[in-house]
Amino acid sequence: MSRRKPTPRPRPSAPAPAVTAGSPCPCGLPAAYGDCCGRFHDGSGGTAPTAELLMRSRYSAFVVGDAAYLLRTWAPATRPAVLDLDPGTRWTGLEIRDTRDGTAFHRTGTVAFTARYVQGGEPGALAEHSRFARHDGAWVYVDGDFPED
Ligand SMILES: [Zn+2]
Repeated sequence: MSRRKPTPRPRPSAPAPAVTAGSPCPCGLPAAYGDCCGRFHDGSGGTAPTAELLMRSRYSAFVVGDAAYLLRTWAPATRPAVLDLDPGTRWTGLEIRDTRDGTAFHRTGTVAFTARYVQGGEPGALAEHSRFARHDGAWVYVDGDFPED
């Protein structure tokens, strides 16, 4: 049995490449950022019409460092007073694993996803089962369970 090649030494996380309106959207949908999550971040596209699109846009907000968007799409009852995004975490991919309800016809919805990241040169993954609800008509994030904990 051959030995595996030594893994590369961990390096400090490289700064995230800048996301522009024409970049592929970080959320993984086959669309440009400006036509996908970016229009929700800057408000030009109104609010996300489904819980899944809100989840995707919140993931993309982590990628681009838009803490204000994360706070305003958080249910007032569970929203933190301040949100410090860790500049040492680089988010590298989102996989939506399951969605329940959360459409124009629902008041609540859930989205199960895995988000991948690199922190201090080490890859990691966050699995979460998130709950969403409507607040003043718009989808907001309520809270989540971490099924692999
Ligand atoms: Zn997107």
